[in-house]
Amino acid sequence: MINNTMKNYGNNRSVIRDLFEFGNQRKAVVGAENVFDFSLGNPNVPAPAKVNATIRELLDTKNDIYLHGYTSAQGDAACREAVVKDLNKRFGTSFRKENLYMTCGAAASLKIVLTALYTPGDEVVVFTPYFPEYRVFIETTGASVRECPCDPDTFQIDLIALENAVTEQTKSVIINSPNNPSGVVYTEDTVRQVASFLKQKEEDYGHPIYLITDEPYRELVYDGICVPFVTKYYTDTIVCYSYSKSLALPGDRIGYILVPDEIADSADVYAAVCGAGRALGYVCAPSLMQHVIEQCTGLVSDLNEYREKRDLIYNALTDLGFTCIHPDGAFYLFMKSPIADAGAFSAKAKEFDLLLVPADSFGTPGFVRIAYCVATDMIRRSLPAFAKLAECYAEELKK
Ligand code: PLP
Repeated sequence: MINNTMKNYGNNRSVIRDLFEFGNQRKAVVGAENVFDFSLGNPNVPAPAKVNATIRELLDTKNDIYLHGYTSAQGDAACREAVVKDLNKRFGTSFRKENLYMTCGAAASLKIVLTALYTPGDEVVVFTPYFPEYRVFIETTGASVRECPCDPDTFQIDLIALENAVTEQTKSVIINSPNNPSGVVYTEDTVRQVASFLKQKEEDYGHPIYLITDEPYRELVYDGICVPFVTKYYTDTIVCYSYSKSLALPGDRIGYILVPDEIADSADVYAAVCGAGRALGYVCAPSLMQHVIEQCTGLVSDLNEYREKRDLIYNALTDLGFTCIHPDGAFYLFMKSPIADAGAFSAKAKEFDLLLVPADSFGTPGFVRIAYCVATDMIRRSLPAFAKLAECYAEELKK
Protein backbone atom coordinates (compact mmCIF):
# COMPACT_ATOMS: atom_id res chain seq x y z
CA MET A 1 0.00 0.00 0.00
CA ILE A 2 1.04 3.61 0.39
CA ASN A 3 3.37 5.00 3.04
CA ASN A 4 1.00 7.14 5.13
CA THR A 5 3.74 9.29 6.62
CA MET A 6 4.79 10.36 3.12
CA LYS A 7 1.19 10.78 2.01
CA ASN A 8 0.62 13.15 4.92
CA TYR A 9 3.73 15.19 4.12
CA GLY A 10 2.48 15.46 0.56
CA ASN A 11 -1.05 16.43 1.52
CA ASN A 12 -0.06 18.91 4.23
CA ARG A 13 1.91 21.50 2.35
CA SER A 14 3.99 23.95 4.37
CA VAL A 15 2.27 27.20 5.39
CA ILE A 16 4.86 29.05 3.31
CA ARG A 17 3.98 27.12 0.15
CA ASP A 18 0.26 27.62 0.83
CA LEU A 19 0.70 31.37 1.05
CA PHE A 20 2.84 31.40 -2.07
CA GLU A 21 0.14 29.50 -4.00
CA PHE A 22 -2.54 31.84 -2.61
CA GLY A 23 -0.43 34.77 -3.83
CA ASN A 24 -0.29 33.33 -7.35
CA GLN A 25 -4.08 32.97 -7.41
CA ARG A 26 -4.57 36.53 -6.14
CA LYS A 27 -2.14 37.87 -8.74
CA ALA A 28 -4.33 36.37 -11.47
CA VAL A 29 -7.34 38.23 -10.00
CA VAL A 30 -6.02 41.64 -8.87
CA GLY A 31 -2.80 41.90 -10.89
CA ALA A 32 0.74 40.94 -9.85
CA GLU A 33 1.60 44.51 -8.88
CA ASN A 34 -1.14 44.55 -6.21
CA VAL A 35 -0.02 41.47 -4.30
CA PHE A 36 2.79 41.90 -1.77
CA ASP A 37 4.23 38.44 -1.44
CA PHE A 38 6.74 38.16 1.42
CA SER A 39 6.33 34.40 1.75
CA LEU A 40 9.26 32.65 0.06
CA GLY A 41 13.00 32.91 0.66
CA ASN A 42 13.70 33.16 -3.05
CA PRO A 43 16.63 35.60 -3.45
CA ASN A 44 15.76 38.65 -5.54
CA VAL A 45 19.31 40.02 -5.76
CA PRO A 46 20.90 38.24 -8.72
CA ALA A 47 24.01 36.09 -8.69
CA PRO A 48 27.26 38.01 -9.20
CA ALA A 49 27.89 38.59 -12.93
CA LYS A 50 30.77 36.12 -12.93
CA VAL A 51 28.39 33.24 -12.17
CA ASN A 52 26.39 33.65 -15.38
CA ALA A 53 29.55 34.48 -17.34
CA THR A 54 31.11 31.23 -16.10
CA ILE A 55 28.04 29.22 -17.07
CA ARG A 56 28.16 30.71 -20.59
CA GLU A 57 31.87 30.14 -20.91
CA LEU A 58 31.58 26.55 -19.73
CA LEU A 59 28.82 25.87 -22.24
CA ASP A 60 30.86 27.42 -25.05
CA THR A 61 34.19 25.84 -24.24
CA LYS A 62 33.49 22.62 -22.38
CA ASN A 63 30.16 21.53 -23.77
CA ASP A 64 31.02 17.85 -23.68
CA ILE A 65 30.44 14.74 -21.62
CA TYR A 66 32.72 16.14 -18.92
CA LEU A 67 30.44 19.10 -18.30
CA HIS A 68 27.16 17.22 -18.07
CA GLY A 69 28.36 13.78 -17.06
CA TYR A 70 28.30 12.03 -13.70
CA THR A 71 30.99 13.21 -11.32
CA SER A 72 32.38 11.12 -8.46
CA ALA A 73 29.56 10.27 -6.04
CA GLN A 74 30.98 12.70 -3.46
CA GLY A 75 31.59 15.44 -6.06
CA ASP A 76 34.16 16.42 -8.64
CA ALA A 77 37.68 16.49 -7.18
CA ALA A 78 38.60 19.87 -8.71
CA CYS A 79 35.42 21.45 -7.33
CA ARG A 80 36.00 20.07 -3.83
CA GLU A 81 39.62 21.19 -3.99
CA ALA A 82 38.56 24.75 -4.92
CA VAL A 83 35.96 24.89 -2.12
CA VAL A 84 38.33 23.76 0.65
CA LYS A 85 41.05 26.08 -0.65
CA ASP A 86 38.63 28.99 -0.32
CA LEU A 87 37.52 27.92 3.18
CA ASN A 88 41.12 27.50 4.32
CA LYS A 89 42.02 30.94 2.99
CA ARG A 90 39.08 32.62 4.71
CA PHE A 91 39.08 30.80 8.03
CA GLY A 92 42.70 29.71 8.51
CA THR A 93 41.68 26.04 8.49
CA SER A 94 43.35 23.09 6.79
CA PHE A 95 40.54 21.04 5.29
CA ARG A 96 41.19 18.59 2.46
CA LYS A 97 38.93 17.74 -0.44
CA GLU A 98 38.39 14.38 1.29
CA ASN A 99 36.44 16.26 4.00
CA LEU A 100 33.88 17.51 1.51
CA TYR A 101 30.77 15.94 -0.03
CA MET A 102 28.95 17.99 -2.70
CA THR A 103 25.14 18.02 -2.46
CA CYS A 104 21.97 19.41 -4.03
CA GLY A 105 21.79 22.31 -1.54
CA ALA A 106 21.33 22.63 2.21
CA ALA A 107 18.17 20.51 2.36
CA ALA A 108 20.06 17.56 0.87
CA SER A 109 23.10 18.29 3.07
CA LEU A 110 20.92 18.15 6.18
CA LYS A 111 18.94 15.11 5.15
CA ILE A 112 22.12 13.20 4.29
CA VAL A 113 23.86 14.10 7.57
CA LEU A 114 20.79 13.32 9.66
CA THR A 115 20.35 9.97 7.90
CA ALA A 116 24.05 9.24 8.39
CA LEU A 117 23.95 9.95 12.13
CA TYR A 118 20.60 8.98 13.62
CA THR A 119 18.97 5.77 14.58
CA PRO A 120 15.53 5.42 16.24
CA GLY A 121 15.55 6.58 19.85
CA ASP A 122 18.14 9.34 19.27
CA GLU A 123 17.22 12.91 20.05
CA VAL A 124 18.21 16.04 18.21
CA VAL A 125 17.97 19.50 19.69
CA VAL A 126 16.79 22.40 17.53
CA PHE A 127 16.47 26.01 18.65
CA THR A 128 13.16 27.77 18.15
CA PRO A 129 12.53 29.44 15.82
CA TYR A 130 13.83 26.88 13.30
CA PHE A 131 13.44 26.00 9.62
CA PRO A 132 10.26 23.83 9.64
CA GLU A 133 11.72 21.18 7.33
CA TYR A 134 14.12 20.13 10.12
CA ARG A 135 11.25 18.26 11.72
CA VAL A 136 10.51 16.34 8.50
CA PHE A 137 14.19 15.55 7.94
CA ILE A 138 14.73 14.40 11.55
CA GLU A 139 11.54 12.44 12.15
CA THR A 140 11.91 10.43 8.95
CA THR A 141 15.15 8.99 10.39
CA GLY A 142 13.24 7.67 13.43
CA ALA A 143 14.94 10.17 15.76
CA SER A 144 12.91 12.71 17.70
CA VAL A 145 13.03 16.50 17.84
CA ARG A 146 13.59 18.39 21.09
CA GLU A 147 12.76 22.05 20.75
CA CYS A 148 14.86 24.47 22.76
CA PRO A 149 13.47 28.01 23.00
CA CYS A 150 15.82 30.92 22.30
CA ASP A 151 15.83 34.03 24.47
CA PRO A 152 12.44 35.64 23.61
CA ASP A 153 13.91 39.16 23.46
CA THR A 154 17.19 38.68 21.61
CA PHE A 155 16.62 35.29 19.96
CA GLN A 156 20.16 34.33 20.96
CA ILE A 157 20.58 30.80 22.37
CA ASP A 158 19.42 30.52 25.97
CA LEU A 159 21.99 28.38 27.81
CA ILE A 160 19.64 27.45 30.64
CA ALA A 161 17.05 26.22 28.14
CA LEU A 162 19.80 24.25 26.38
CA GLU A 163 20.78 22.59 29.66
CA ASN A 164 17.18 21.45 30.01
CA ALA A 165 16.94 20.22 26.43
CA VAL A 166 20.08 18.07 26.22
CA THR A 167 19.75 14.51 27.56
CA GLU A 168 21.81 11.35 27.36
CA GLN A 169 19.91 10.49 24.15
CA THR A 170 21.03 13.72 22.45
CA LYS A 171 23.08 12.76 19.43
CA SER A 172 23.34 16.22 17.96
CA VAL A 173 22.27 19.84 18.05
CA ILE A 174 21.42 21.90 14.97
CA ILE A 175 22.23 25.59 14.78
CA ASN A 176 21.38 27.98 11.98
CA SER A 177 23.08 31.36 11.94
CA PRO A 178 22.33 33.81 10.35
CA ASN A 179 18.93 32.49 11.28
CA ASN A 180 15.86 31.81 9.23
CA PRO A 181 13.41 33.25 10.33
CA SER A 182 14.76 35.61 13.03
CA GLY A 183 17.63 37.16 11.03
CA VAL A 184 19.75 36.86 14.20
CA VAL A 185 23.45 36.02 14.02
CA TYR A 186 24.69 34.03 17.02
CA THR A 187 27.49 35.99 18.67
CA GLU A 188 30.96 34.62 19.27
CA ASP A 189 30.15 34.60 22.97
CA THR A 190 27.03 32.48 22.38
CA VAL A 191 28.94 30.01 20.19
CA ARG A 192 31.72 29.72 22.80
CA GLN A 193 29.21 29.02 25.57
CA VAL A 194 27.33 26.42 23.53
CA ALA A 195 30.66 24.78 22.63
CA SER A 196 31.87 24.57 26.20
CA PHE A 197 28.51 23.27 27.43
CA LEU A 198 28.37 20.54 24.77
CA LYS A 199 31.98 19.54 25.40
CA GLN A 200 31.10 19.03 29.06
CA LYS A 201 28.06 16.97 28.12
CA GLU A 202 30.13 14.79 25.78
CA GLU A 203 32.39 14.03 28.73
CA ASP A 204 29.46 13.40 31.09
CA TYR A 205 27.70 11.04 28.69
CA GLY A 206 30.78 9.47 27.11
CA HIS A 207 29.63 9.87 23.51
CA PRO A 208 29.96 12.56 20.84
CA ILE A 209 27.29 15.23 20.45
CA TYR A 210 27.67 16.56 16.93
CA LEU A 211 26.92 20.21 16.31
CA ILE A 212 25.37 20.44 12.85
CA THR A 213 25.64 23.96 11.55
CA ASP A 214 23.18 24.75 8.78
CA GLU A 215 24.56 27.82 7.09
CA PRO A 216 23.00 28.77 3.77
CA TYR A 217 23.06 32.44 4.88
CA ARG A 218 26.68 32.45 6.13
CA GLU A 219 27.80 35.36 3.94
CA LEU A 220 24.55 37.35 4.08
CA VAL A 221 25.40 39.65 7.00
CA TYR A 222 25.29 43.41 7.37
CA ASP A 223 27.12 46.22 9.15
CA GLY A 224 30.43 44.33 9.32
CA ILE A 225 29.02 41.65 11.63
CA CYS A 226 31.11 38.49 11.71
CA VAL A 227 29.63 34.98 11.72
CA PRO A 228 31.83 32.74 13.90
CA PHE A 229 33.11 29.73 11.93
CA VAL A 230 31.89 27.03 14.29
CA THR A 231 34.50 24.33 13.56
CA LYS A 232 37.04 26.60 15.28
CA TYR A 233 35.05 26.65 18.53
CA TYR A 234 33.74 23.10 18.80
CA THR A 235 35.60 20.03 17.55
CA ASP A 236 32.58 17.83 16.74
CA THR A 237 31.12 20.22 14.18
CA ILE A 238 29.68 19.18 10.81
CA VAL A 239 28.89 21.98 8.33
CA CYS A 240 25.91 21.90 5.96
CA TYR A 241 26.28 24.63 3.35
CA SER A 242 24.40 25.79 0.29
CA TYR A 243 24.99 28.31 -2.51
CA SER A 244 21.22 28.82 -2.81
CA LYS A 245 21.24 32.16 -1.03
CA SER A 246 24.82 33.49 -1.18
CA LEU A 247 24.96 33.03 -4.96
CA ALA A 248 21.18 33.29 -5.55
CA LEU A 249 21.07 29.80 -7.12
CA PRO A 250 18.26 28.05 -5.19
CA GLY A 251 16.85 26.37 -8.28
CA ASP A 252 20.20 25.02 -9.39
CA ARG A 253 20.61 22.91 -6.24
CA ILE A 254 24.23 23.03 -5.14
CA GLY A 255 25.86 22.89 -1.71
CA TYR A 256 28.13 20.70 0.40
CA ILE A 257 28.73 18.84 3.64
CA LEU A 258 32.01 19.40 5.47
CA VAL A 259 33.16 16.57 7.75
CA PRO A 260 36.41 17.76 9.39
CA ASP A 261 39.13 15.18 10.25
CA GLU A 262 39.04 16.34 13.87
CA ILE A 263 35.48 15.21 14.67
CA ALA A 264 34.90 11.98 16.58
CA ASP A 265 34.88 8.95 14.23
CA SER A 266 35.48 11.24 11.27
CA ALA A 267 36.21 8.48 8.74
CA ASP A 268 33.09 6.57 9.79
CA VAL A 269 30.93 9.69 9.66
CA TYR A 270 32.22 10.50 6.16
CA ALA A 271 31.57 6.90 5.09
CA ALA A 272 28.06 7.13 6.55
CA VAL A 273 27.51 10.42 4.67
CA CYS A 274 28.50 8.66 1.43
CA GLY A 275 26.22 5.75 2.37
CA ALA A 276 23.29 8.04 3.18
CA GLY A 277 23.80 9.95 -0.08
CA ARG A 278 23.62 6.60 -1.84
CA ALA A 279 20.61 5.32 0.12
CA LEU A 280 18.69 8.54 -0.54
CA GLY A 281 19.58 8.55 -4.23
CA TYR A 282 21.41 11.89 -3.87
CA VAL A 283 24.82 10.95 -5.29
CA CYS A 284 26.48 13.31 -7.75
CA ALA A 285 25.34 16.91 -7.25
CA PRO A 286 24.58 18.77 -10.53
CA SER A 287 27.73 18.57 -12.60
CA LEU A 288 27.42 21.93 -14.41
CA MET A 289 26.99 23.69 -11.07
CA GLN A 290 29.99 21.93 -9.57
CA HIS A 291 32.07 23.31 -12.44
CA VAL A 292 30.63 26.77 -11.83
CA ILE A 293 31.41 26.63 -8.10
CA GLU A 294 34.97 25.54 -8.88
CA GLN A 295 35.45 28.96 -10.48
CA CYS A 296 33.18 31.10 -8.30
CA THR A 297 34.14 30.30 -4.69
CA GLY A 298 34.23 33.33 -2.43
CA LEU A 299 31.67 35.37 -4.40
CA VAL A 300 28.44 36.74 -2.88
CA SER A 301 25.41 38.57 -4.31
CA ASP A 302 25.32 42.33 -3.70
CA LEU A 303 24.90 42.76 0.07
CA ASN A 304 24.24 46.50 -0.29
CA GLU A 305 20.99 45.75 -2.05
CA TYR A 306 19.86 43.42 0.73
CA ARG A 307 20.88 45.95 3.37
CA GLU A 308 18.87 48.65 1.61
CA LYS A 309 15.79 46.41 1.64
CA ARG A 310 16.35 45.50 5.27
CA ASP A 311 16.66 49.12 6.37
CA LEU A 312 13.63 50.15 4.35
CA ILE A 313 11.27 47.53 5.77
CA TYR A 314 12.63 47.46 9.32
CA ASN A 315 12.44 51.26 9.68
CA ALA A 316 9.01 51.54 8.07
CA LEU A 317 7.40 48.79 10.15
CA THR A 318 8.90 49.89 13.45
CA ASP A 319 7.75 53.46 12.65
CA LEU A 320 4.23 52.06 12.26
CA GLY A 321 4.51 50.68 15.79
CA PHE A 322 5.24 47.03 15.03
CA THR A 323 7.88 45.28 17.15
CA CYS A 324 10.55 43.66 14.98
CA ILE A 325 13.80 41.84 15.72
CA HIS A 326 16.63 43.77 14.09
CA PRO A 327 18.02 41.41 11.41
CA ASP A 328 21.82 41.27 11.37
CA GLY A 329 21.83 38.68 8.59
CA ALA A 330 19.83 36.53 6.15
CA PHE A 331 16.89 38.29 4.48
CA TYR A 332 14.01 37.81 6.90
CA LEU A 333 12.31 40.23 9.26
CA PHE A 334 10.78 38.61 12.33
CA MET A 335 7.85 40.68 13.51
CA LYS A 336 5.78 40.27 16.65
CA SER A 337 2.12 39.78 15.89
CA PRO A 338 0.09 42.46 17.73
CA ILE A 339 -2.31 39.67 18.77
CA ALA A 340 -1.40 36.29 20.24
CA ASP A 341 -2.76 34.39 17.23
CA ALA A 342 -0.25 35.03 14.43
CA GLY A 343 -2.38 32.91 12.07
CA ALA A 344 -5.31 35.31 12.55
CA PHE A 345 -2.96 38.27 12.08
CA SER A 346 -1.61 36.75 8.85
CA ALA A 347 -5.20 36.18 7.68
CA LYS A 348 -6.00 39.86 8.35
CA ALA A 349 -2.85 40.87 6.42
CA LYS A 350 -4.10 38.80 3.47
CA GLU A 351 -7.12 41.12 3.26
CA PHE A 352 -4.62 43.81 2.21
CA ASP A 353 -2.81 41.35 -0.08
CA LEU A 354 0.14 41.25 2.29
CA LEU A 355 1.49 37.69 2.53
CA LEU A 356 3.24 37.23 5.89
CA VAL A 357 4.12 33.77 7.20
CA PRO A 358 2.83 32.94 10.71
CA ALA A 359 5.80 31.52 12.62
CA ASP A 360 3.96 28.76 14.49
CA SER A 361 5.52 26.10 12.25
CA PHE A 362 8.94 27.57 13.10
CA GLY A 363 8.18 26.72 16.73
CA THR A 364 7.58 30.35 17.75
CA PRO A 365 3.89 31.28 17.94
CA GLY A 366 3.02 34.97 18.09
CA PHE A 367 5.39 36.08 15.31
CA VAL A 368 5.30 36.40 11.53
CA ARG A 369 8.17 36.07 9.08
CA ILE A 370 8.59 38.64 6.34
CA ALA A 371 10.97 37.53 3.57
CA TYR A 372 12.32 40.85 2.25
CA CYS A 373 14.37 39.23 -0.54
CA VAL A 374 11.92 40.85 -2.99
CA ALA A 375 12.06 43.86 -5.33
CA THR A 376 12.80 47.04 -3.37
CA ASP A 377 10.02 48.72 -5.32
CA MET A 378 7.54 46.11 -4.06
CA ILE A 379 8.58 46.82 -0.47
CA ARG A 380 7.95 50.55 -1.09
CA ARG A 381 4.57 49.90 -2.70
CA SER A 382 3.56 47.58 0.15
CA LEU A 383 3.98 50.21 2.86
CA PRO A 384 0.47 51.76 2.52
CA ALA A 385 -0.98 48.24 2.96
CA PHE A 386 1.14 47.77 6.11
CA ALA A 387 -0.15 51.15 7.33
CA LYS A 388 -3.76 49.97 6.86
CA LEU A 389 -2.92 46.74 8.68
CA ALA A 390 -1.42 48.74 11.56
CA GLU A 391 -4.63 50.80 11.77
CA CYS A 392 -6.58 47.58 12.41
CA TYR A 393 -4.46 47.01 15.51
CA ALA A 394 -4.05 50.61 16.66
CA GLU A 395 -5.02 49.76 20.25
CA GLU A 396 -2.71 46.72 20.52
CA LEU A 397 0.23 48.59 18.96
CA LYS A 398 -0.06 51.37 21.59
CA LYS A 399 0.62 48.89 24.40
N1 PLP B 1 18.15 25.62 5.89
C1 PLP B 1 17.59 26.82 6.05
C2 PLP B 1 17.72 27.51 7.35
C3 PLP B 1 16.90 27.42 4.99
O1 PLP B 1 16.34 28.62 5.17
C4 PLP B 1 16.79 26.73 3.76
C5 PLP B 1 16.03 27.30 2.63
O2 PLP B 1 15.38 28.30 2.70
C6 PLP B 1 17.40 25.49 3.65
C7 PLP B 1 18.06 24.95 4.73
C8 PLP B 1 17.33 24.71 2.36
O3 PLP B 1 18.21 25.32 1.45
P1 PLP B 1 18.46 24.75 -0.01
O4 PLP B 1 17.59 25.50 -0.94
O5 PLP B 1 19.89 25.03 -0.29
O6 PLP B 1 18.17 23.31 0.01
